[in-house]
Amino acid sequence: MGVLEGCRGPHKTPIPEERICPVCGAEVEVFTVRGRISADSTCECGYVFHAEEQYVSPGLQKIFDEAKKRVEDDG
Ligand SMILES: [Zn+2]
Repeated sequence: MGVLEGCRGPHKTPIPEERICPVCGAEVEVFTVRGRISADSTCECGYVFHAEEQYVSPGLQKIFDEAKKRVEDDG
């Protein structure tokens, strides 16, 4: 497929993958690393496929969860 096909790169190489937008159903090309989205991709409808961080520590995840909860409480 690619010119670099003989070269087995590191497993972290992002590969393009089609994902279905949950909002409009369109196919959106996102870059993934071992099945996880490695970079934000925006659908033409505005939906954003957020990068799925692989290196989030439990402590950082807790901060995210609390921040999200705070926003919901304010609403
Ligand atoms: Zn969409």
